[in-house]
Amino acid sequence: MNKVQLPAYDDSAAFDNLSKNQRLGSYPQLQPLVASVQAGYAQYVAVNGSPTLVQNQAISATAAAFLKGHYASPPADLAHITKMRDSTEHLVCPMCGSMHSGTLDHYLPKNGFPIFSVFSKNLVPACKCNSKRSETLLGVNPGERVLHPYFDDCLGERLVSARFEDLGEVPRVSLVLLIPNTHPLHSAIAFHVRSIVQKSAVVRYLADRWSSLFRKPSLVVRAFAENIATQAEVQTLLEAERDSLDDLYKGKNNWNSIFVSGLLDPIVLAWLAGRFSMPGRTPDGPLG
Ligand SMILES: [Zn+2]
Repeated sequence: MNKVQLPAYDDSAAFDNLSKNQRLGSYPQLQPLVASVQAGYAQYVAVNGSPTLVQNQAISATAAAFLKGHYASPPADLAHITKMRDSTEHLVCPMCGSMHSGTLDHYLPKNGFPIFSVFSKNLVPACKCNSKRSETLLGVNPGERVLHPYFDDCLGERLVSARFEDLGEVPRVSLVLLIPNTHPLHSAIAFHVRSIVQKSAVVRYLADRWSSLFRKPSLVVRAFAENIATQAEVQTLLEAERDSLDDLYKGKNNWNSIFVSGLLDPIVLAWLAGRFSMPGRTPDGPLG
């Protein structure tokens, strides 16, 4: 999960150009839609893409099929779609927090909301979690919805942490929400974590990171190459590591920051400090 900047492309102009492009099979069938699509784009931004507030507009099945086709193979008028996909591939997935992206996810699904199928502000970089999400958008309880990485500022807060229990070579690994029940977006955040993040490979990733840490601590935190005397010192090093990961990955909910957050749990800190300060321990050796 990551808050990302709203794309600055001029979608209204792009749609107008698309409708006028005589080389495309969709000409001239998109022309009657221009005014209402442009109004729809403006309204979408005005309500921050909220699924319950965006005014959907029914369009013909033919027009919807043309738009989906243009999304799948963007013509020159929509070259920014290809650029968005390519330029974000190496970045943290704004939807689940994995360490890469590579696809674009329609925040409002293109089947239900065809007029937004080529709208850049509805296209969010995402990894494989995109296909697992499918058309998930709203939950059954009030306030439950998928978060929007362009509009939901809460994605910039630290929302989740790893939780490690039964500490040892292979601990029990899970995710825990860090926000209180009173958080105004608690239902949405909990729903997003449950229906998108939990279904990704995050727990396997965290378990693998733990395995590396256990085998050779410096693989995870460079400063762990030395033996460390106190729990306070372990905590200081981990806090610095987490700050630096937040900075590097431009957010607090990437899987690496989530991992280190889990190590900062007082029980884990005490366990790590105990291992690091065992008499006769070889520096950077296994923790068991
Ligand atoms: Zn993802």
